[in-house]
Amino acid sequence: MTTLTNPFEIARETLRLLATRRIPPTPDNYLTLYHEISGTQPAAESFPEKQLRSLAGALPKSSPDQLRLARQLDEAVKSANWDEYTNHLAHFVSALAESQKLAWSELITQLIRQWDAKHVGFTAARKRESLDHLLAGAGANPETLFNRLQSLIRSWSQVKESDAPTEGEAAPDEPIDQPVAIAAQQHAEDLLPELRELFAYTLETAIATQLIESPQLSSDAKQLAVDIRGARKPEQMQDFLARLKRFAFKLELLAEDQSELRHSLLNLLRLLVENITELVVDDRWLYGQIDIVRAIIDKPLSQRTIDDAERRLREVLFKQSQLKASLFEAREAIKQILAGFVDHLADFADATSDYHDRIEGCAEKISAANDISELGNVLNEVMHETRSIQINAQRSRDELRSTQEKVKKSEARIHELETELEATSDLVRHDQLTGVLNRRGLEDMFNKEVARAQRHDSLLCVGLLDIDNFKKLNDSLGHDVGDQALIHLANVCRAALRPQDTIARFGGEEFVILLPDTPIEDGIVALTRLQRELTKEFFLNDNEKVLITFSAGITQMQPDDTQATVIKRADEAMYKAKQSGKNRVVCSPH
Ligand code: GH3
Ligand code: MG
Ligand code: MG
Repeated sequence: MTTLTNPFEIARETLRLLATRRIPPTPDNYLTLYHEISGTQPAAESFPEKQLRSLAGALPKSSPDQLRLARQLDEAVKSANWDEYTNHLAHFVSALAESQKLAWSELITQLIRQWDAKHVGFTAARKRESLDHLLAGAGANPETLFNRLQSLIRSWSQVKESDAPTEGEAAPDEPIDQPVAIAAQQHAEDLLPELRELFAYTLETAIATQLIESPQLSSDAKQLAVDIRGARKPEQMQDFLARLKRFAFKLELLAEDQSELRHSLLNLLRLLVENITELVVDDRWLYGQIDIVRAIIDKPLSQRTIDDAERRLREVLFKQSQLKASLFEAREAIKQILAGFVDHLADFADATSDYHDRIEGCAEKISAANDISELGNVLNEVMHETRSIQINAQRSRDELRSTQEKVKKSEARIHELETELEATSDLVRHDQLTGVLNRRGLEDMFNKEVARAQRHDSLLCVGLLDIDNFKKLNDSLGHDVGDQALIHLANVCRAALRPQDTIARFGGEEFVILLPDTPIEDGIVALTRLQRELTKEFFLNDNEKVLITFSAGITQMQPDDTQATVIKRADEAMYKAKQSGKNRVVCSPH
């Protein structure tokens, strides 16, 4: 080989050789080849210099800062500036320590975020399982742990986040097994025991606990859990599968039975409700309660509505039972008065029949009388009998009058009680806390107002208001004060709006207002006036003024609107009011 002298040519040849010999193009390899080609000797490096240079080369360079510091260290070696080298190295080490610390805290923050985030097809149990697995495999080595945690978190973050996941539920189109797949890649042989445990756990908890009313099936589920934990051999697995199928079949039958039972119960209830008029003498006191039960039957069953209905029915029942006791007393009183009067009539009848007998006796005496003096005695007797029967008749008339009075009074009391009973049935239409209409009451009123607006061809405005920052008020002053604030708002509304306007509590801190005969411009004015009233009529808590504000949406009822569409529009407008800073009224004309 001819010795090259031109440094450019030597450099080109060096690069060519690096490539043809497939040598990694590191500075050291380049230098060795360079000297080989040029026939020169590399400058002898002292032992510590070489070590320090290789140390600088071995330092991590995963960030621009680290790269810069490594280069500075290299420069310091080249220029043999050991003070600078020491400084740079110290700087590098402390930066590295800092970056490690930061990375951990950031990693833990990410872990918490991804743990809390709800991913489609990705339950908390699954995350826990992957994490347990990872900790078991890499818990002893911080670096491995860091890297694996990082990739696990990354795998979670790549899965689409969902709004409404449920434990154990998986969306069919989503990559549900991503974390398990990662775990499987890491420790494929461990996956089966984990799945087996998961299955046993599901049988024991999710399934067995749902079968409290079927103790046999519940204990079957628990036994299957024990069996799957112990099943290792194929034949055990076969046996388990056969029993699992039988169990699933029984579950299916049970589900059918339960559905049929529920159906029959509902039918029975429907029959009762629809025929209540035939079953009771007077159903006037029942229509509110019947409405509640009818609404429950007509919609898909919900525990919340059933509980709510039960609470309301109990309240009405309590009041009605008190009123009915008074009603019973009033009726008993009438009965007694009448019984007394009948007794008296009987006495009177006896007395009159005595009178007839005696008068008859007198008549006989008169016809048998021989002289006038005898007649005088008989006449005296007749006079006496007649006077006493007259007095008796007078007394009876007086008593009859007083009995009439008493009966009239009792009847009035009964009427009063009956009206009150009827009104109690209406209780189911009012909100217990604020006394304004509840949703049921609103529904009735809404229908009436819509019919009225159509009849008179008039305008109906619907407003929805939602108290601002009510959660904060509850949190700072307590739930009871929050309740008082709701009552205050309802009172201010009642006072500020017209008698023909309707106020209803639509939900927690949301109220619906119906303004009949009102163009939208006037509706806006009315709600704005209400806002002003609220700033004047302070809500007092322990003599401290608490300012309550609300945001409202208002809209005009259109011919093709239903209650749902018109309230939805008002709600959207209210939402805009919240978005644009709260404490304001936004209108959505149609
Ligand atoms: P925003 O201004 O956006 O409307 O905020 P907010 O806090 O008013 O709204 P959010 O919907 O977050 O909170 C409503 C709160 O109302 C939460 C709930 O605890 C409270 N709440 C609902 N019903 C009642 C009730 O009957 N009594 C009390 N005291 N609080 C209630
Ligand atoms: Mg709200
Ligand atoms: Mg609110």
